[in-house]
Amino acid sequence: MSEYKQPNNESEFENNFSQIKPLMNDTQAYYESSRCLFCYDAPCVSACPTGIDIPLFIRQINSGNVTGSAKTIYDSNYLGNACGKVCPTEVLCEGACVYNLQDVKAIEIGRLQNYATDKAIKNNIEFFTAGKSNGKKVAVIGAGPAGISCACELRRSGFEVDIFEAKEKPSGLTLYGVAPYKITNEEALNEINYLQKQLGFRIIFSTFISSKEDFKKLEDEYDAVFIGIGLGKTNYVNIKGEDLENCFGAVEFISELKINQHKVKAGSRVIVLGGGNTAMDAASESARLGADEVILAYRRGKEEMGAYDFEYELAKDAGVQGLFNVSPIEITGNEKVSGVKFIKTKTDNGKVENIDGSEFTIDCDMVIKATGQMKQSDLFENISGLEADEKGRIKINKTYQTTNPKYFSGGDVISGGKEVVNAVAEGKAAGKGIEEYLLKI
Ligand code: SF4
Repeated sequence: MSEYKQPNNESEFENNFSQIKPLMNDTQAYYESSRCLFCYDAPCVSACPTGIDIPLFIRQINSGNVTGSAKTIYDSNYLGNACGKVCPTEVLCEGACVYNLQDVKAIEIGRLQNYATDKAIKNNIEFFTAGKSNGKKVAVIGAGPAGISCACELRRSGFEVDIFEAKEKPSGLTLYGVAPYKITNEEALNEINYLQKQLGFRIIFSTFISSKEDFKKLEDEYDAVFIGIGLGKTNYVNIKGEDLENCFGAVEFISELKINQHKVKAGSRVIVLGGGNTAMDAASESARLGADEVILAYRRGKEEMGAYDFEYELAKDAGVQGLFNVSPIEITGNEKVSGVKFIKTKTDNGKVENIDGSEFTIDCDMVIKATGQMKQSDLFENISGLEADEKGRIKINKTYQTTNPKYFSGGDVISGGKEVVNAVAEGKAAGKGIEEYLLKI
């Protein structure tokens, strides 16, 4: 049973969704930084996709040079603040910290990173300037982590950059897709403003680049185009009842929650279908919205879930119950969801098999499908020569250039769905790739 009551106003929402990695105060940051061993060849650095010099920034905090620490972070990662909050540090830098070998709590690298960068943002301490104009223009499609990171890199090298964003606000997944208890909307947006003030990239909102003509126009007006559009809507499960009222895709549900917060209502019994990190977020969020009961249903065993262990623990702490080895065969109801019909499953040689005659139904008034996201492959068809692989991911070479040389790409659209920090690293690398290509370095 969930212990949360339905939030009816902003402050109740904030209580239910309080930050799991709250901002450290000066004493906490000093104490935590003093525990770091400042390892030579530190494994935490190799585990960071953006290669932040972690022992250096922690030492800088410890010696009182917090501005220097923020600079060290931003030198490697343009979204250093967001990543400190939303990265699965438990399996990246903190998971690699040498303290784990001694059964001692790993250094809280994410929170320290957040501590230093938060001060830089709040005090408007600037680290970047736009480079002298080189006369070249680049269009970036998507103002998410990959697009913003690419834009920052390009602006520093003197490119003019226009970002075309389909939504009304920037940040992509960080704003619309990450659970509210990991980062607030204000934090996500403040960092983009902070970067935009220093580097002056333009963002054109509510502009969905999709048709052949749209792409052709960009090709005519810009010297190169970066595609950082992420993934599309939630996949269909292809069972009866998916179009019933109160059956939602997880991505759409989370996005709605991020924007409309306490105005979003969960059902009293919610069934979440899926076993990945998005399923954990959707389940945890439903519980925090005050659902009496949240059931997470997964077609394989608990150990086979794609979600990180700590994400499942977080969902359980919020009152979510796991139901394993069950596969949905129908969402029942008349106009509105009334339940989910399942069949029990077993795994044989890695393959999921239904157990004949084991069907059963659980009543509920809301279903959230966290069953993966569609690729935006129909858009790729409007770009001549652009190839995707058999999984629908845009093909790139080592400089992040696609099979159409004018286009570069990074983020979920090339990886099929990774972390924000991977998108940041790829956007930056693609920016370097564009620079090499256009300036023939
Ligand atoms: Fe500090 Fe841990 Fe990194 Fe070593 S591995 S430098 S102790 S954070």
